[in-house]
Amino acid sequence: MIMVIGGAGFIGSSFVRVVEKPVVYDKLTYAGRLENLLNVDHTFIRGDVAGKELEDAIAMHRPAVVVNFAAESHVDRSINNPNPFLHTNVMGPVNVLELARKYDFRYVHISTDEVYGEDDADEDAKLTPSSPYSASKASADMFVRAYVRTYGTDAIIIRPSNTYGERQYPEKFIPKAIIRGLLGMEIPVYGSGRQQRNWIYVGDLVGVIKRLITEGRRGEVYNVSGDNVRTNLEILDLISKYISLKIKHVEDRPGHDIAYRMKNTKIQFEKTSLEDGLKRTVEWYKSNEWWWKPLINDPYFTKDEEWKINSQ
Ligand code: NAD
Repeated sequence: MIMVIGGAGFIGSSFVRVVEKPVVYDKLTYAGRLENLLNVDHTFIRGDVAGKELEDAIAMHRPAVVVNFAAESHVDRSINNPNPFLHTNVMGPVNVLELARKYDFRYVHISTDEVYGEDDADEDAKLTPSSPYSASKASADMFVRAYVRTYGTDAIIIRPSNTYGERQYPEKFIPKAIIRGLLGMEIPVYGSGRQQRNWIYVGDLVGVIKRLITEGRRGEVYNVSGDNVRTNLEILDLISKYISLKIKHVEDRPGHDIAYRMKNTKIQFEKTSLEDGLKRTVEWYKSNEWWWKPLINDPYFTKDEEWKINSQ
């Protein structure tokens, strides 16, 4: 049986759709929603990845595999207040690693390409994170590595590139552009808009994660890049084929990486083209207004320069 921590968020809720009867463990922060688990045959437990209650859940269900998607995942929020990032993104994985020692399950740790900073990175590249978010993720990766080396823990690390698709919270670039476009609002673009990102469709990513549960080798790192590199302006151009967009340039955020150019060297897979993936994503947001309507008063959706929001 597979336990999916953070399974009520964006990528986790896509992953739970490709595995059998998962146990979903999630704190349900602003980013986690039970609506994301509609029509999924699962058992749900509410809890903190860094909390003692995780042990009760693991002792009761005895999973063979634990996949951990739980994270504070928004860079702008990490600039405004790094503390929850340390709690969830560092203390959380360390808690799971400790329990892996005791209960002997395979730990699949979900990291990010942002740990490499702007490096032209393969899996052996050094970690040079730029934001409090990516520093917290890099820190957790170091703990996973240390547990494998010190205790022989059966763990793998997966580093996906920028992911897009259905059920992504509207603070993120692509859903924000789509929803603001649908509402006739302007789309804020940080700085020149020429920052490059390497996009992967969520459906492709969760298929690879599922494969790596069995194919992944203990202690290995796997980059999962969609090989779809585009500037932010190019992405908006593609979306504007389906919805008319009004673009507005705003002040760039500090420490903003210009490009992520991560390479997969260990796992190959069929990649959805950005044109097809974006078309599908726009369609989903168009026909699921009920899903995003309750979220549009969040200041991380309504404000143009989110990294200036004072949430300390
Ligand atoms: P998300 O913000 O949409 O979802 C995070 C989920 O974790 C939510 O369900 C939330 O309720 C849960 N959560 C948060 N804090 C928790 C805690 N303390 N205890 C238990 N649950 C908690 O995130 P996402 O975009 O789905 O990202 C999932 C993972 O993938 C993260 O580790 C992220 O760093 C990584 N990642 C994301 C992307 C991307 O582009 N979205 C790219 C690469 C890597």
